[in-house]
Amino acid sequence: MVLIDQALSADDPKRPADPVHAGEVSRKVAELNARYRHHSATAVMQGALEDAGHIALVSSFGAESVVLLHMAAVIDKMTPVLFVDTQMLFTETLIYQQEVSERLGLRNVQVIRASDQEIAAKDPYGALRFNDTDACCALRKTVPLQNALNGFDGWITGRKRFQAGTRAALEFFEVEDDTGRIKINPLAHWAPEDVRAYMEENNLPRHPLVAKGYPSIGCAPCTSPVKDGEDPRAGRWRDQNKTECGIHFVNGKPVRTGANQ
Ligand code: SF4
Repeated sequence: MVLIDQALSADDPKRPADPVHAGEVSRKVAELNARYRHHSATAVMQGALEDAGHIALVSSFGAESVVLLHMAAVIDKMTPVLFVDTQMLFTETLIYQQEVSERLGLRNVQVIRASDQEIAAKDPYGALRFNDTDACCALRKTVPLQNALNGFDGWITGRKRFQAGTRAALEFFEVEDDTGRIKINPLAHWAPEDVRAYMEENNLPRHPLVAKGYPSIGCAPCTSPVKDGEDPRAGRWRDQNKTECGIHFVNGKPVRTGANQ
């Protein structure tokens, strides 16, 4: 496992897109979607790692992460896995990350963190989240991840069509706005029961907090358990106008609420 401190500036986390490069990426994405349209999630994952360039799997080691981690391990244990440690995570997540990585034999897990200098300058007491959660997510999560992704042609996400109306047309491959990277969504067509079935069939370990009422798991201070009947993400930034951390970009802006997903 490799620990990477992100010492680059937090001012502009995104790699500026070159229009010529963006056009080439768009053509490649269209070609990949045509080729893999009727393929399984595993085939899409394999295609991404073999045909889409230098690709990383970005994983929170959260409630459902083990599915893509398992697929990556089966295909290639050297798949780069980027894990953003905000230094605000549950202890259970840190332990789970180590246990799952070891059990699956993943040999290229890279732990991404904001640099000590950035934390000291912007959030020395860990209190930024009390008055500006967007700034805290940018400092601890979005910017370090975007900086880490600058070395890659694309990244794999666990997003699915059923999660939001605005994701209803989510494709396996898409162009990330403004960065020129490819974003790959192998589970785009999966339903919740597909995720459960895959974990059961492959005897994969669940994040221990799932059994304690956390169907979606982020940082400890910003995640609470959900009650029966609540939306699975209701415990994330509860009672705040924020539903996303901002690692996904739409029209050049980080997505932070359901409204602009
Ligand atoms: S989820 Fe909360 S603690 Fe974590 S980075 Fe965002 S605001 Fe900070």
